Amino acid sequence: MSNIEENRTAQKHKLHKIATDWRSTLRNAHIRVTSQRLAVLSTLEAYPHSSAGEIIGYVNAGERENLTTQGTYVILQQLEQHGLVRRVSLPDSASVRWETRVADNHHHVQCVVCGRVEDVDCVVGHAPCLTPADTHDMEIFEAQIVFRGLCKECKAKIESGAIRKEDLPYLVAQ
Ligand SMILES: [Zn+2]
Ligand SMILES: [Zn+2]
Repeated sequence: MSNIEENRTAQKHKLHKIATDWRSTLRNAHIRVTSQRLAVLSTLEAYPHSSAGEIIGYVNAGERENLTTQGTYVILQQLEQHGLVRRVSLPDSASVRWETRVADNHHHVQCVVCGRVEDVDCVVGHAPCLTPADTHDMEIFEAQIVFRGLCKECKAKIESGAIRKEDLPYLVAQ
């Protein structure tokens, strides 16, 4: 396992608390409560910004459910339609990621080396926190901002030579 993968795994296994009563949330949204839907929602709350593949990995590793790829996509799309999850597309991620923190117009900060993603609160307080110079006659309701940077761990690895700066095209271009 490479340093980058180790870092990502360690970060992913941080303990998160499940605070939401997903049974009631599903009932209130008039979606039938199923163990698969509950597994997807609680896993996503514990591991925010996971891809569908990662969600399946966490759920199936815990032997709580046996999620299929197709089934998981259907569940995520359905939950998205009801506003219970939100998809996050980030420049340094190969696949779409998902989160249960919805409707608060928060933004993301991402390490360009290990891909770690964290939430950051809305830049100015309420949506849309930025106004474009030209709206092209569109009514603007939100701005999605991704701050891209270098995390402390990756910075230390570059400084110690554990990661070669030459192997990081994005940083070399700076
Ligand atoms: Zn990093
Ligand atoms: Zn987020």
